[in-house]
Amino acid sequence: MFRNATAICLHLVGPLWGKKSGASLTRCLHQTFTMAKRLQARRLDGIDQNPWVEFVKLASEEADVVNLGQGFPDFSPPEFAVEAFQHATSGDFMLNQYTKAFGYPPLTKILASFFGKLLGQEIDPLKNVLVTVGAYGALFTAFQALVDEGDEVIIVEPFFDCYEPMTLMAGGRPVFVSLKPSPTQKGEPDSSSNWQLDPTELASKFTSRTKAFILNTPNNPLGKVFSREELELVASLCQQHDVVCITDEVYQWLVFDGFQHISIASLPGMWERTLTIGSAGKTFSVTGWKVREYGGMGSPPSTIVGGRGWPGNPERVWLGPQGPHPLPMFLVQVGWVLGPDSLMKHLRTVHQNSIYHCATQCQAAVAQSFEREQLHFGQPSSYFVQFPQYIQRCRDHMIQSLQSVGLRPVIPQGSYFLITDISDFKNKMPDLPGAADEPYDRRFVKWMIKNKGLMAIPVSTFVSVPHQKFFDHYIRFCFVKDESTLRAMDQKLQKWKAELMP
Ligand code: PMP
Ligand code: GLN
Repeated sequence: MFRNATAICLHLVGPLWGKKSGASLTRCLHQTFTMAKRLQARRLDGIDQNPWVEFVKLASEEADVVNLGQGFPDFSPPEFAVEAFQHATSGDFMLNQYTKAFGYPPLTKILASFFGKLLGQEIDPLKNVLVTVGAYGALFTAFQALVDEGDEVIIVEPFFDCYEPMTLMAGGRPVFVSLKPSPTQKGEPDSSSNWQLDPTELASKFTSRTKAFILNTPNNPLGKVFSREELELVASLCQQHDVVCITDEVYQWLVFDGFQHISIASLPGMWERTLTIGSAGKTFSVTGWKVREYGGMGSPPSTIVGGRGWPGNPERVWLGPQGPHPLPMFLVQVGWVLGPDSLMKHLRTVHQNSIYHCATQCQAAVAQSFEREQLHFGQPSSYFVQFPQYIQRCRDHMIQSLQSVGLRPVIPQGSYFLITDISDFKNKMPDLPGAADEPYDRRFVKWMIKNKGLMAIPVSTFVSVPHQKFFDHYIRFCFVKDESTLRAMDQKLQKWKAELMP
């Protein structure tokens, strides 16, 4: 990466500085910086590994790998969201400038009215809404604002991996409680609703030092949608022990089989102690609307090419005015936090002293997209109605395909992920290459990427180190994929199946 950076820098500075200074710049970039003092802040200890960085890189090193690992849709966002973005980037020139620190007013206003109805709460756009750089930004701001040195944070595992490092960076102590599957009838597929918390064990995790409970429903990676009874138990424990609930609901629209997403903030007495986090990336299938350059394995190319509607609605083909339309390389993703002013004021303090402001044009596009959804809410034309229907078909397709090679998917009721049991493979080929202490699922995924051309994510990534041994026979697949990607998966799986034949 530094070589590329050097090449780019030399290309830029060469003509200005002459060859000689270009060469010294190269030397400078290749020298390792050392310092007698400890260099990195202690808060970085033990968190330098990241599964997305690691596995995306691994898959990009092999030719022809179907990426079913990282969670992003590989099809166009809905036409109305793309149009809203085009409108924001080509319209009012003031959208190129800073907007209000805590959110572009039309966005905070529509978020307040949209979620106010869903949560049964009067939401003040100025006091109860904060716009952030994605749900990642929302989570980071919340942890920094509320978690102090020595505070305990309860995390339900398997969990979206960033909760643990974010707790540690804030000086907190993660306390884990595992969802466990109950036995299934022989031959019956497992289901994420079968994975539950043991109420006694859960209660035992709450102490006088507990500051926050992290909830994620629908859950990544399991796809579990927490039931009202389960949420009521969490709510009563949070109230009893005076604990804040940070609830990550980025997949709230992706719920299947008639299951219902319930926001814990809507339960009696919970609004006052809950931060509810959402993401435009998940809501409108635009995970790239974030400060980063497109590119790299699995990311869209440097232009988003229209011309293909999103698969759930293929007849609504989006074409830019002059055909395929290149969108700017640097886009910003939008996330948000909703909560009572007593909590939000501390998040605003972190935000105003760190990020300060999120890209105005993206906020304008998200505002317009929500305004459209509000008009269509609950109707067949709503993206929030159509999208889960399409994704449920992708889920069912993937389940059947994985079962055909002897994998045993746990059927998810929400999100766009499923985990699958690989015990049969673990029994048949226990000695896959890898370090002796490397969990089996990690070795299996590396083997699968190299030998089967399929990428998934090991589930031990989503659990605490002491519990990895209980989860190392699961891997996670992502099914928010175009039909062509699912067909490419089928081809790989059929080849795999043929190799398994005696
Ligand atoms: N929470 C969960 C459960 C996620 O899966 C993700 C990953 N996309 C995020 C938060 C981060 O979302 P965003 O891309 O909006 O930052
Ligand atoms: N949230 C996404 C997932 O779970 C990816 C996050 C990332 O790539 N950093 O797959």
